[in-house]
Amino acid sequence: MARHLITSAIPYINGIKHLGNLVGSQLPADLYARYLRARGHEVLFLCATDEHGTPAELAAAKAGKPVAEYCADMWQVQADIADGFRLSFDHFGRSSSPQNHKLTQHFAGALADAGLIEEVTEKQVYSVADGRFLPDRYIEGTCPNCGFESARGDQCDNCTKQLDPVDLIDAHSTISGSTELEMRETKHLYLRQSKLRDELDAWISAKTDWPILTTSIAKKWLHDGDGLQDRGITRDLDWGVPVKRGDQDWPGMEGKVFYVWFDAPIEYIACAQEWQDAGKGTDWQRWWRTDKGADDVRYTQFMGKDNVPFHTLSFPATIKGSGEPWKLVDYIKSFNYLNYDGGQFSTSRGRGVFMDQALEILPADYWRWWLLSHAPESSDAEFTWETFQTDVNKDLADVLGNFVSRVTKFCRSKFSEAVPDGGAWGDTEEALIADLSTRLTAYQAHMDAMEVRKSAAELRAIWTLGNEYLQTVAPWTTFKTDPDQAAAQIRLALNLIPFYAVLSAPFIPDASAELLDAMNATDTAWPDDVRSALTALPVGHAFTVPDVTFRKITDDERVEWADRFAGTRD
Ligand SMILES: [Zn+2]
Repeated sequence: MARHLITSAIPYINGIKHLGNLVGSQLPADLYARYLRARGHEVLFLCATDEHGTPAELAAAKAGKPVAEYCADMWQVQADIADGFRLSFDHFGRSSSPQNHKLTQHFAGALADAGLIEEVTEKQVYSVADGRFLPDRYIEGTCPNCGFESARGDQCDNCTKQLDPVDLIDAHSTISGSTELEMRETKHLYLRQSKLRDELDAWISAKTDWPILTTSIAKKWLHDGDGLQDRGITRDLDWGVPVKRGDQDWPGMEGKVFYVWFDAPIEYIACAQEWQDAGKGTDWQRWWRTDKGADDVRYTQFMGKDNVPFHTLSFPATIKGSGEPWKLVDYIKSFNYLNYDGGQFSTSRGRGVFMDQALEILPADYWRWWLLSHAPESSDAEFTWETFQTDVNKDLADVLGNFVSRVTKFCRSKFSEAVPDGGAWGDTEEALIADLSTRLTAYQAHMDAMEVRKSAAELRAIWTLGNEYLQTVAPWTTFKTDPDQAAAQIRLALNLIPFYAVLSAPFIPDASAELLDAMNATDTAWPDDVRSALTALPVGHAFTVPDVTFRKITDDERVEWADRFAGTRD
């Protein structure tokens, strides 16, 4: 038994995420966590919401709520949806937690003590009417390049030109509309990442087992152009972690907060404290402090490729720079993008299926199976309603669901709703056991390696072996001449159902539980040995014929859903 710390990239608070977000971090992380628990390992699986920064303030203003209330409400919405998808977080925390405030301030103090924080005075746009400095997104004006009237302070959305707020014509505050803007001096803290470049470079170089997607992105940021840049870690905002040096005030930094990119990854650690403080566990430090027992922990992070720079460079810079014995990530599993039906998912245009909508139309397992079996690992992947319908109907309804239905119904009609006695295994059964054993070994190897698509393919092949066995031995034909032999065949096939349920649980936990329940199977241990697993249900063991495990998606539904999710969400 080993100890595994697993984190999923933490979703931003402003709104409900789409299926591409789900398959890019939370869902594969859940697959891995469920698998490792099933194999008997000790797992701490953490996720949280990322709540600070300007977009949260803007979203709260749009919703007409104070930002703290907005974040609390949206945290609950995201937590409920995560439950709906059966994401088995040990804790779903919040980056705005008191624990994260304290820990973020602690790290800033430790980094300052190590000489890795620089105070920089710079000029920034100040709105006299609003009485505050304005982040770029709070400033709008006319684009000097194309004349677009709603260009933002950092970029024109019309011509995509990168802008500086002073470039804008008739610049005004989006809060008050005031044009009374002036440049004022303000002081900010910078993390001197450049001083850690060689140390980070050596660390990344040693990670020869990491996916190329992960290390190539990190290396690009380390070496392209002028190399790894120092980064501002503070902002003139109200909503965030107040700037402090440990538990001390930081002269000149009054009224400022840490920049969201600095505090968000620290929430991975704070989340473990929240987990303990919520009464769900004890001794969080044995997961995070190498001087307090975390040395034997294997830490795996899951994320989309856009998050790789923060996790390979910025967060490790914070940890390494602190000089304290915090656990560093051992393996980063990163994902490409899932596209939607010939284009991209778009939150602003409501294009694609969002997590809440997905659960309104089909149970979680349908989505979990399709998304994981098409996870964008080696390249971007694409969701289309045609492939979704075809694959779900084939894999779940025709292969797995149909197998269960045929076996249990046949047994009920020819024998009873109990495992039948009689007959014995022959060469066909021995061959099946050999094939299943080979495939089980391959499945475990792919799951251990977090090869999500390969794991799904192997599981599908394991299901298919059951159908092929039924086709080969044809118990409905055997029964006419040799009922004892048919009983032996059905006995084996009935035993395949809990075997499948246990192996499939990381992918389709609800269906797995239903199958185990229907078979009255109480032993949910991972099958170490196929032969003994296929005799686990003894002669006379009662079961019930399960309801339809997976229904088929109809053509009408496919057409209706394709139209509904083409991009009209308001
Ligand atoms: Zn423009």
